[in-house]
Amino acid sequence: MTEPAAATTQHRFQAEVAEVLSLVVNSLYTHKEVYLRELISNASDAIDQLAFRALQQPDLVVGPPEWRIDIVPDREARTLTIRDNGAGMDDADLVQNLGTIAHSGTKKLLESLSGDQRKDLTLIGQFGVGFYSAFLVADRVTVVTRKAGGDGRAWKWSSDGKSGFTLEPGEREGRGTDVVLHMKETEADFLREWTLRELVKKYSDFVRHPIRLEVERGQDDKKHKEMEQVNKGAALWTRPKSEITDEAADDFYRHVSRDWEAPLAWTHFRTEGMQEMTGLLFIPGRAPPFDTTSARRKGVRLFVRRIFIMDDCEEILPEYLRFVRGVVDSDDLPLNVSREFLQRDRVAAGIRKQVVRQVLKLLEDLAAEGPRPVKKSEDDADAPAADVVPDTENRYEHFWREHGRILTEGVVSDSDNAERITKLLRFQSSHAPGLTGLTDYRTRMPEAQPAIYYVVADSRESAARSPHAEAIRKRGWEVLYLTEPVEEWVLQQVPEFDGKKLVSASSGKLDLPEDDAEKAAHEKLEGEFAPLVGRVKGALESSVEDVRVSSRLTDSPACLVAGDQDVSPQMARILKSQDRNWTPPKRVLELNPAHAVIQRLNTLAGDASNADRVNDMSALLYDQALVAEGSAPSDPARFARQIAELLTKSLAD
Ligand code: ADP
Repeated sequence: MTEPAAATTQHRFQAEVAEVLSLVVNSLYTHKEVYLRELISNASDAIDQLAFRALQQPDLVVGPPEWRIDIVPDREARTLTIRDNGAGMDDADLVQNLGTIAHSGTKKLLESLSGDQRKDLTLIGQFGVGFYSAFLVADRVTVVTRKAGGDGRAWKWSSDGKSGFTLEPGEREGRGTDVVLHMKETEADFLREWTLRELVKKYSDFVRHPIRLEVERGQDDKKHKEMEQVNKGAALWTRPKSEITDEAADDFYRHVSRDWEAPLAWTHFRTEGMQEMTGLLFIPGRAPPFDTTSARRKGVRLFVRRIFIMDDCEEILPEYLRFVRGVVDSDDLPLNVSREFLQRDRVAAGIRKQVVRQVLKLLEDLAAEGPRPVKKSEDDADAPAADVVPDTENRYEHFWREHGRILTEGVVSDSDNAERITKLLRFQSSHAPGLTGLTDYRTRMPEAQPAIYYVVADSRESAARSPHAEAIRKRGWEVLYLTEPVEEWVLQQVPEFDGKKLVSASSGKLDLPEDDAEKAAHEKLEGEFAPLVGRVKGALESSVEDVRVSSRLTDSPACLVAGDQDVSPQMARILKSQDRNWTPPKRVLELNPAHAVIQRLNTLAGDASNADRVNDMSALLYDQALVAEGSAPSDPARFARQIAELLTKSLAD
């Protein structure tokens, strides 16, 4: 900006801001006190940001920095000021940061929230609405701020949190930001020393910069004001593990993740020797409402020798662990690291390895936990895990439901740890309701069972009815039910587990073991049904690769199995949706020789004069097999007509 902007300008909030504001004010009113934590976090972030920039540009901060977050209550004026000497903002920053919502995810989130979810604090808390929580307690908020390294001018932003804000030149000595809350009449309690002190202790004790409160000391006419530090201010992760209580870890988690709930689990580690580093990592109790980059914004923070370097450091956390939150502090990285540097650096690679190892170890421990730990007392609202995990699940099951889909990707993307991750996978299974892992499946496998079987379907129910798995289940063998597309894609990359092949029940070569008598019987059937097989093949030439007599079916008349290329119908639907021109590979139609329909058709097929009828029936069998596996019939209109004709006939008999 070049011309001196002397006048006050009026601005309207972007539509989403107004919506977020009304959401915050109407949903969070029972947790009003969080406003202080949010504003302190913003102040602390602004300091971290400036400290980091000053590493490269030392003149941004003159003299040795005394980082400060000051809280100044003024009972007469009924204002509360949260003051920091961090990065500050200029006019453009103010419009951008406090007038719009930068994260595209927030808009989508708002659209997707149903009435009940709108009351859900967790969802709202994670989406950077921190500043607006000021309007929970204030009927006007004024921000006076000056940007470090800017043109030296200060700006004043002011709003009643309804439709918009005003912007005008302001007065401020030195860089930083004052957020002045003009408290609602009903909220005067937040101006009391005791209340403020307790709130800082509860929510912001571990903020690393000193938080000072202006307090009144002395008697009557000797009264004076002084600043008193009210937080401990130590970096929690630098303490030995034995000194970190669940409670402190939970509070710290809420601070770094901006989650409103306790984490599901946490781990602390320190490595020495080759690499010196400390980490405090958390598994959130819930997945973000949608899995986007903005949801990942509060990932793992990287520190170097206690100095904040960057938020959401992807370089030290692989994609498939993107649900993890926390802090990693390295003693070995240089302070002036950039993302590009981290991508190439050996030390960073070592940190990443260590982070992966620690998270997998934590998950393995959870998986070994068995039934859920006893719930803490009902009135203990902040009890770790208690409010996050429903009674019906243990912690690992809960983890799996929330984050399992993401972890699964690691089997493919992290070949070094593929085996460990594979053991952490959980599936629905024919064994029992609930989840099971491959290790347990393997222990239950009888000697004679040659492979680990799975069937791909849209739901547990349709998997349980799958024609493909009939013969496997008839032998009493367990079948895993894969109901997520990512599971199938991943298991196809896992050829073996503990010496046993993983085989899809719909694969062309199921190769169920047969003794000599069974083999001979099958060959005999192939001979008997040759006329039908030949006719059906002729009729369906353009749709199927081959037709054969099945040994996998017991109840259904027919099913489709993979031909040369193994692409399940579920996967085919995904591939098709990505590329309209993609045509699924042809499959093989298997006929069940024990089924009355097939036997009757075989008799008809022996007489050439029935050719038309057999052709019609072949088409119907094919469509029926498609429907049975959850696909659409090839020609729905024809399929419906044929069914109607059959119904008419059967009713006429
Ligand atoms: P979030 O902090 O999650 O991004 P907020 O609504 O709390 O969302 O804040 C919006 C933005 O306003 C912040 O990202 C930051 O850029 C800016 N901001 C807020 N408070 C301060 C502050 N005290 N100093 C500097 N910038 C701030």
